[in-house]
Amino acid sequence: MFKLKIIYFLLQYTLRGTFRQREVLARFQQRKWQRFRKKVLSNSPFYQELAQREADLEDFPLMNKTAFMANFDQINTLGITREEAMQVALHAEVERDFSPELKGATVGLSTGTSGTRGLFLVSATERAQWTAMVLRRVVPIKLFKRQKVAFFLRANSNLYSSVQSASLEFRFFDIFQPIEKLLRELADFQPHILAAQPSILSAIAEGQVAGSIKIQPKLLISFAEVLNDADKQFIQKTYAVPLCEVYQCTEGFLAVTCAHGTMHLNEDIAIFEKKYLDESRFIPIITDFTRSSQPIVRYELNDVLVEKKEPCPCGSCFTALERIEGREDDILVFTGADGEMIKIFPDLICRVIARSTEGFRAYRLRQVGALELQLELESEDFQVVSAKISAALHVFLQEKGVNNLSITCKQGIERRTGEKLRRVERKIPAIDN
Ligand SMILES: [Zn+2]
Repeated sequence: MFKLKIIYFLLQYTLRGTFRQREVLARFQQRKWQRFRKKVLSNSPFYQELAQREADLEDFPLMNKTAFMANFDQINTLGITREEAMQVALHAEVERDFSPELKGATVGLSTGTSGTRGLFLVSATERAQWTAMVLRRVVPIKLFKRQKVAFFLRANSNLYSSVQSASLEFRFFDIFQPIEKLLRELADFQPHILAAQPSILSAIAEGQVAGSIKIQPKLLISFAEVLNDADKQFIQKTYAVPLCEVYQCTEGFLAVTCAHGTMHLNEDIAIFEKKYLDESRFIPIITDFTRSSQPIVRYELNDVLVEKKEPCPCGSCFTALERIEGREDDILVFTGADGEMIKIFPDLICRVIARSTEGFRAYRLRQVGALELQLELESEDFQVVSAKISAALHVFLQEKGVNNLSITCKQGIERRTGEKLRRVERKIPAIDN
């Protein structure tokens, strides 16, 4: 049954082809939305009333993580309470057994970096849809002879291990294991396709350069964290094969790179409203038609995306992205001379650091009261490299109106196993305007 469902969705997605005109896409999204409202939202106690009187999308309330978790019991269509879901999820994490289901749905726990932990429910049909979508978008059809895929994950949720078919052999690697052990297992497996977080891809590439692992993947897939330019270049220098970026979170499979290397929003599975921060940066608000057990309606994400202005040569009319800038929570905030709030986007900081000097392998800049720069070096002198970066940041931030800046520099990056690595992090609360 499950495989049939995958094939059904795969056919549906393939037949649909590429959307080239926004008007055609808008009509398609409208049809999908109406269907979703009728079939799914009318079964959700939280949305029932609005769905039954056929309210327009803009009449539905905006949602965010806190409100979503607070209304968990009312939003989901399976009558599952937050308490029972949490119990199943925590048990799965502790036992590292992710098979138990609750009313036909698997329960996952998202890595909450900002307070509330997210709980998500996924049914078998949703899993089949997800699988078909990933196969269709990420794995090129010409690669469809038996391929070995190495998938690095935080936890083995059923969502991912279901991608097992005649043409694909999936092996799951738990990122909580020590990297040396993972490298040994990966070398034994010899994957054709390697899918992992950018920090893991980098660690594998480092292993390859150091000679501790030798693999020849044909395709690399990066997901879960933002892939920055420095990591991208290093990974691609080590493995000269296509590197596909998947932008995905527990709220959905949101975007993926096309054959031209441009990242496009998956606008055939969700409506993306855009909350603009300036002329090209926006925060996406998503309504996902593929979720039925836990509907995602007008859900505001935490990420800042940067729109690409020129159309992509691939012909798709799906919104093209210049890049994913990172979490809104990581925008650095300072107080200016007149008490005004100055916001600095993480991406600008990354570019200043990249331009300032060479000789470092990785860095992390944290705003913890003062700025703290953690540096991992290739060879050069720590004092010299950190002084150059520090000076460049001072100049840049002063131009933006930030005075009295203090930066402390530390050698080495503090990493916690399994943690998402963000280059720029804000650890202090935002100042209210
Ligand atoms: Zn494209």
